[in-house]
Amino acid sequence: VNDRSNSASETPRRSALPVAHDASVGVSDSAARELRDRSGRRVDYLRVSVTERCNLRCTYCMPAEGLPAAPDTAALSFDDIVFVAQTACSLGVDRIRLTGGEPLLRRGLTELVRKLRAETDVRDIALTTNALLLPKHAQALRDAGLSRLNVSLDSLRADRFERIARSRLLDETLRGIDAAEEAGFGPIKINTVIVHGFNDDEVDLWMERIKERQWIVRFLELMPIGEGAALRRLGGFEDVSALRDRLIDSHGIEPTDAPHGNGPARYWRVPGGGMVGFITPMSQPYCDTCSRFRLTSDGRIRPCLAFDVDVDARPAIESRDSQALRRFFGHAAEIKPSGHQWHGGQTTSTGMSTLGG
Ligand code: SAM
Ligand code: SF4
Repeated sequence: VNDRSNSASETPRRSALPVAHDASVGVSDSAARELRDRSGRRVDYLRVSVTERCNLRCTYCMPAEGLPAAPDTAALSFDDIVFVAQTACSLGVDRIRLTGGEPLLRRGLTELVRKLRAETDVRDIALTTNALLLPKHAQALRDAGLSRLNVSLDSLRADRFERIARSRLLDETLRGIDAAEEAGFGPIKINTVIVHGFNDDEVDLWMERIKERQWIVRFLELMPIGEGAALRRLGGFEDVSALRDRLIDSHGIEPTDAPHGNGPARYWRVPGGGMVGFITPMSQPYCDTCSRFRLTSDGRIRPCLAFDVDVDARPAIESRDSQALRRFFGHAAEIKPSGHQWHGGQTTSTGMSTLGG
C-alpha cells in the first residue's frame, strides 16, 4: 500500500489501515465473485486512466505549465488494461469508464475499446473527454462498441472558456460535441464544474442551450483535489444544491427517476427539452453509495478519490497473476475509506488528471 497522504492528521495513516483479514470484506477466498468494503458497499465500477497527459490546462485541474506527466510508454499497455478488466469482472465489476488526463490523446484508444468489448464481460464502456479530438474519433469509437461518452465543458462563452481551460479552443470543443451526436452518442451528457466567480453566472445561458440541443448537463461542485484545493481556498466553491433549488423556482425543473448514468447525479427534466443533473460531493456528500475504484495509468488501484492512498498492482498485472491481482483488489476494498473529510480541511494532493477524474 502506498500512502501518499498530504495531511497527516486528516488522511488515514498507513498504521491505521486495516491489516487483519476479515472474511466478510474484500476478496475472502479464491472463488469470491464480488468486492465488498468495510462499510458494506459493493464495488462494481472501475474508472481507468489511460494517460496523464492533456491538451488543456483547466485551472482547477492542472497548473498552467502542465504536470510532469509520465510518458505513455510508462503506462499500462492495452493488454494490461484488458487483463485488469477481466479480473475486475470476475469480482463483479461490470462498468468501466476510460478517462485521464485526456484519454483521446492515448494513441489507438479505439482499439482498447474494441478489445474490452471482445475480450471482457464488461457491460458498459464509457468515456470522459474534453471533446477536442472527437471529430477525428467519435465514429470509430461508436463502431468499436463504446456505450456512452461524457464531455467536460465549463463555459459556453469564449472568454470564460479561455480563462478556465487556458485555451481558445471552445469552437473545437463544440465541434467535438457535434461529432459525437452525429456518431449516435446523443443525447450528449456534459459535465460543468461550477466555480464561484468564474462561471456561476452562466446558468441561464446553459438552460437555453440545453433546451435547444436536448443536452443533459450535470453541474458539479469543485472538489479540493490538486489545483482545485487552491481555488477553493480562494473562495471558488459553489453550492450546487442551492443552484438546484434556484432552478426549481426560476426554470420549473422537475425531478425524474430516470437512471441516466452510473454516478451520483440526480436528474431533473427541463421544461422545453433536455435535463440537468447535480453532483454535490461537498454540499450533499454521497460517499455512502460509492461503488467505484480507480486505476491509474501506471497500474495503481485507488479506492477513494479523496485520500492519497493506493495499492500498487503493477507487478501482478505484468506477470498476469490473476489471483494476486484479485488479492490487490480485495485489499483496496479493505482500505476503502467510508467517506471524504474535505469539510475538515482535508485536501487531496494527487490531481484529477493523474487520478482519472
Ligand atoms: N480530460 C477529460 C475531461 O476533462 O473530460 C477527462 C479527465 S478530467 C480530470 C475528468 C473530470 O474531472 C472533468 O469533468 C473535470 O472537470 C473534473 N475535475 C477535475 N478537477 C476537478 C476538481 N478539482 N473538482 C471537480 N471536478 C474536477
Ligand atoms: Fe485536461 Fe480534463 Fe484536466 Fe481539463 S479537466 S486539464 S481537460 S484532464
